[in-house]
Amino acid sequence: MNNIAYIALGSNIGDKETYLRQAVTMLHQHDAVKVTKVSSIYETDPVGYEDQDEFLNMAVEIKTSLNPFELLELTQHIENELGRTREVRWGPRTADLDILLFNRENIETEQLIVPHPRMYERLFVLAPLAEIFPQVEKEAKNAEPNQEGVRVWKQKSGVDEFVHSES
Ligand code: ATP
Ligand code: CA
Ligand code: CA
Repeated sequence: MNNIAYIALGSNIGDKETYLRQAVTMLHQHDAVKVTKVSSIYETDPVGYEDQDEFLNMAVEIKTSLNPFELLELTQHIENELGRTREVRWGPRTADLDILLFNRENIETEQLIVPHPRMYERLFVLAPLAEIFPQVEKEAKNAEPNQEGVRVWKQKSGVDEFVHSES
């Protein structure tokens, strides 16, 4: 598992915390993925399409032997398993998993762009990411002031508390 990747997770329908926890557990349960760090959970006001419920957002660090496209397949599989449907762009969702960073790779394909193209303008992504990947802290501090509306909702506690399964 010699790749290191950072994933942003968000949910704004139903039992949001449970969706986040299930998504992290499903990542960790994959044989080729180990969740190594988890951020706090943040409550954030919707951005882009504002007529919807607040989000819970967090970020995780993983070690993986998957390549970036296999990881995208896994994250989309998890979204589907958790009942994700797509009606409105940036609209309500049970679970959204975005690949933020994959090693130091730059990928630009139709399916996958890494680093995630909108991560540096989103405080709801940068704030949790900065807890587990301190190199982005500067960008997080410089993020647009109109992206306030990001509050810690549950302090980070550690992977063990988060991921219930073995290995
Ligand atoms: P945003 O990308 O602005 O956060 P979104 O998460 O709501 O919006 P989705 O509907 O979840 O957008 O994803 C649309 C497509 O984005 C996916 O089908 C996927 O192929 C593509 N995509 C490109 N780069 C990435 C990435 N780094 N992580 C996840 N999906 C990506
Ligand atoms: Ca997203
Ligand atoms: Ca997405």
